[in-house]
Amino acid sequence: MTEDRERIRVRFAPSPTGSLHVGGARTAIFNWLFARHHGGAFVLRIEDTDAARSTRESEASLLEDLRWLGLDWDEGPDVGGPHAPYRQSERTARYRDVAARLVRARLAYPCFCTDEELERKRVEATQAGRAPQYDGTCRFLTPEEIAARRREGRPESIRFHVPGTGRVSFDDVVRGTVTLNVEMVGDFVVVRSNGRPTYNFAAAIDDADMDITHVIRGEEHLPNTLRQVLVHRAVRATEAGHDGIDVLQDPRWNAGMPRFAHVPLILAPDRSKLSKRHGASSVGELRARGFLPEAVFNYLMLLGWSHAEGREVMTREEAIEAFDLSRVGHSAAVFDPAKLRWMNGRHIRRMDGGAYVERALAQLPESIAAAYDDARRREIVALVRDSLETLEDVAERTRVFAPSPALDDEAHAVVRSDAGRCVLEAFLQVLDEFDGDWSADAFRSLARETGARTSLRGRDLYFPLRAALTGSLHGPDLSQVAAIRGRDAVERLVRRALDGPAA
Ligand code: GLU
Repeated sequence: MTEDRERIRVRFAPSPTGSLHVGGARTAIFNWLFARHHGGAFVLRIEDTDAARSTRESEASLLEDLRWLGLDWDEGPDVGGPHAPYRQSERTARYRDVAARLVRARLAYPCFCTDEELERKRVEATQAGRAPQYDGTCRFLTPEEIAARRREGRPESIRFHVPGTGRVSFDDVVRGTVTLNVEMVGDFVVVRSNGRPTYNFAAAIDDADMDITHVIRGEEHLPNTLRQVLVHRAVRATEAGHDGIDVLQDPRWNAGMPRFAHVPLILAPDRSKLSKRHGASSVGELRARGFLPEAVFNYLMLLGWSHAEGREVMTREEAIEAFDLSRVGHSAAVFDPAKLRWMNGRHIRRMDGGAYVERALAQLPESIAAAYDDARRREIVALVRDSLETLEDVAERTRVFAPSPALDDEAHAVVRSDAGRCVLEAFLQVLDEFDGDWSADAFRSLARETGARTSLRGRDLYFPLRAALTGSLHGPDLSQVAAIRGRDAVERLVRRALDGPAA
């Protein structure tokens, strides 16, 4: 495959206009995995051409979220590289030079239409059932007309001259040859009247200038790709001294263009567009909710890609080894919060034990932390580990360790029942006779002895004890709970259950 011969260069090109969402994170992960799998370069480029919406704070938070996910980049705004600068706002001169060249070659032209005029025409076109594309008012202005409009002080942007008809084909790694009709797009702006380039123009120029070999991004970018292929051809052809819009029909000028890989959309479980109302959809929110970066990474890499042997839970190294674009699918992927939680639980269990305890301790509620010494706090969080889906669950799962946990309705009914009281009373007697060292094993043998004396087994025996000690019929291993709580607390809680207020 060509991928192995050339040095793969991919980029993640976020616009710093907000936080990193799961869709963007998935795109970043695919690009990063592809680069790492092939020993290529992963470039981070900041697409901040929209001055009004781009902020340095958003850029900083994007970088932080990417780092949190465990992604690193070989070139980028903070680390530099052979194609610096990596912020589009610092590359404006290059875009203007190319735009001027395209104007000279009659592939682009100055446009003097005002926003109000454009808006009016858009509305008219839509009402008349036409595509709301630029109507070509300024396409063939004479030099005199241009000079006159400049004298009037009208805003001047530069538009790309898209051929009225024809098809453009490009090679897509996921979808094979894609052929799009140029009628899908009208003459689009490449440099705004404020001198800033538009996304499609800047991205196509940068991808070529930065020697990007593969552009991996969401399928929603297909119409942009059409524009970018046209820009790419225009840049190549004019570099070689050609002019006139016929060059845009010539696939020869695809030379040096990156290969595209349009990856499937990510939908919500109800198959609508994924949005805020479907819960945490930004990387920052997932982090705040106690998800592990390795789990988020692992889950997102499975949105549109699958392992040849159907494996799901993978380490980063296994993911790099297994990932390739050949296994990117065609159908939309569904972001399923429940599956993400499950995946996170799997990664919590795979984490290094020491690292887990440190992170889980930070989630232990103060009321519980204050009631135990450090060694016991560590035992408590270790004990609930297997029941967690997120680290946030630590608070809920450790409630059974509250100094005097409230009894829920089921637990209350059990300790109030005749059989329940019988078990608890027998247990107190057995405990009173016990003079060995307190431990989980000791508690187990006391419980067995209680069973022997009451002729009760299984749930009939353990539910009353569990209800008394934890306030609930469900929870972590009861003998471990008893061991951590200590003999005195166990006795106190059993008495409390027996003496508690009548139902
Ligand atoms: N800045 C674009 C975005 O955030 C980049 C798309 C692309 O990968 O070309 O959607």
